[in-house]
Amino acid sequence: MLSVKATAMVSLVAALATVGIAAFVPGTNRAQFVPRTNAMTPVATTTTAIESAAHDMQILATRKLLMPVQGFDPKALRDNFDESRGIRSHEALDIMAARGTPVVAADDGTIAKLFRSVAGGITIYQYDSSERFVYYYAHLDRYRDGLAQGEAVKRGDVIGYVGSTGNAPANAPHLHFTIFQLGPEKKWWRGKAVNPYPYLAAR
Ligand SMILES: [Zn+2]
Repeated sequence: MLSVKATAMVSLVAALATVGIAAFVPGTNRAQFVPRTNAMTPVATTTTAIESAAHDMQILATRKLLMPVQGFDPKALRDNFDESRGIRSHEALDIMAARGTPVVAADDGTIAKLFRSVAGGITIYQYDSSERFVYYYAHLDRYRDGLAQGEAVKRGDVIGYVGSTGNAPANAPHLHFTIFQLGPEKKWWRGKAVNPYPYLAAR
């Protein structure tokens, strides 16, 4: 199956191949769009989807995401997003820290789901304020007291504590953190992983 990026590129190429040419209109100073007669691709739909995804990334870049582990030096951050973990790709950053270190909201938003899973252990899914993205925090030792689904959080609010629940080694507590770009249905469990590294690393 093609990746989303590759699919988008194929759509873009298909769109470019079918949009036709701009022709000069005699007697005016304007070019007029002349569609090719064999145009079959619904150009408006594909280009809108590409523009929408690019627009989301621009929004993410303006957010100035906060390092989700309190006190962690951005210069020490390692990009392990593309490392393999067994049969699959990691698609997250592992941020090493002592057990009990506060985990803070990387951005303003709402707690979408408090979830326990075999691999992730104690986890938090947090919507950003536009619900275009979900921030995912896993292997927590525990939640911050009183944290609840639907709760509004601000960038920097403590939401939990670093641990090693799920499949993290007990002697290497860390925060497993990633960003999911959601589709139009905005379901917290269905998104495309986005590498948080460029948004968190020292610039
Ligand atoms: Zn991880």
